[in-house]
Amino acid sequence: MQFVSTRDASHQASFSEALGRGLAAGGGLYVPLEWPASAVAGVRAGEALASQAAQFLAPFASGDPLAAEMPAIAGEAFNFPAPLVPLDGDRLGVLELFHGPTAAFKDFGARFLAAALVRLRRGAPRPLKILVATSGDTGGAVAAAFHRQPGIEVVVLFPKGQVSPTQQQQLTCWGDNVQSLAVRGSFDDCQRLVKQAFAAPGFAAAWDLSSANSINLGRLLPQAVYYVASSVQLRARTGKPASFIIPSGNLGNATACVWARRLGAPIAEIVLAHNANRTVPDYLAEGVLRIRASVATLASAMDVGNPSNLERLTALYPDAAALGLAISAVSVDDGAIRARIRADHERFGALWCPHTATAAEAWALMPAARRGSQQWVLVATAHPAKFRETVEPLVGRPVPVPASLARLFGRPAQYTEIDATLAALQATLERRAA
Ligand SMILES: *Cc1c(COP(=O)(O)O)cnc(C)c1O
Repeated sequence: MQFVSTRDASHQASFSEALGRGLAAGGGLYVPLEWPASAVAGVRAGEALASQAAQFLAPFASGDPLAAEMPAIAGEAFNFPAPLVPLDGDRLGVLELFHGPTAAFKDFGARFLAAALVRLRRGAPRPLKILVATSGDTGGAVAAAFHRQPGIEVVVLFPKGQVSPTQQQQLTCWGDNVQSLAVRGSFDDCQRLVKQAFAAPGFAAAWDLSSANSINLGRLLPQAVYYVASSVQLRARTGKPASFIIPSGNLGNATACVWARRLGAPIAEIVLAHNANRTVPDYLAEGVLRIRASVATLASAMDVGNPSNLERLTALYPDAAALGLAISAVSVDDGAIRARIRADHERFGALWCPHTATAAEAWALMPAARRGSQQWVLVATAHPAKFRETVEPLVGRPVPVPASLARLFGRPAQYTEIDATLAALQATLERRAA
């Protein structure tokens, strides 16, 4: 099957070409050219997530060099569960996406991309170097997924002194084929540096650079799997479709859910819960897109003022009126995040990370009739232990740390400090290669 650029309908790519390139020529994003009904039809309730993933992804990889490897790739990426846990009877469930190695949903997409790229790079003369600018979760998930994978090196750039101690540990505890760089600057400086590296003539080719951020189809498409699997499961149990409330920033996770529904998964409403970065809720309310600088919030992985995957949503729903029929969006400020973490701990004994708390707040804000009209599912995007500095003072007790995170916390950290310049990045790459 072919994928097409959001900016140029004549530019198409196969599954593995889209994965290898990340961005389409001209800066567009790859979206499916067709919506094969067989993808969702092949997914049966109660099967292991890895085989559901292989079923779902098979039509997209049909005719591709990766087609025969899809069951193995799905097995490597979906080797931890995504349980749908009841919170308030059958009325409200929580889709827990945080049982992977770095305890956030990004593990699914990062692991899928890693398993696919390793196979695509077999026999290449030089390692592929993956540059990731990160403000926290992405870098950890990508580093974990590619750690000790043959033929691939990862360079993680994070803003020095601007990530939490827990996040910094996840970015710097790897070693081997993962190089962690503390950039003297902001997250925006890190992102600018990565863009400069790709834009500088000859630079990307000289170093065999690639990127692994959420615009890569190989991270986004696999995320549809857990929406298909959980909605099929809920329908098997209750006969009704699922409605998801998704903590959102760059809209990768939200786009995956919209695609799952477009492909025929039993999904009714899709609600996007944003933090104080209001670009999407304001676009839907005002009908005009106003891009702005991001503002820092407690739900830092969602601090995005210019969501890159909005381009994929507008490829399906060209204006605010059309998009507003497909999804809705709310904005939740830090005060409401704190209050919601406290309140739901008291009411349900729940422990939310600040991101998941935005979804819980969006549900609580609904009028009772709307709450009762759907089978709502809160999407839990990260484990609360990743954000224990925020969560523990609010709930007044320690947050239990899952074994996978505890292992990361126990590893020795190592990183190199660099200036926020392309020359400094180049010097570091050269030192490493020497
Ligand atoms: C990345 C992230 C989000 C936002 O997901 P998008 O796909 O960028 O919308 C939400 N919560 C957590 C914990 C994340 O790491």
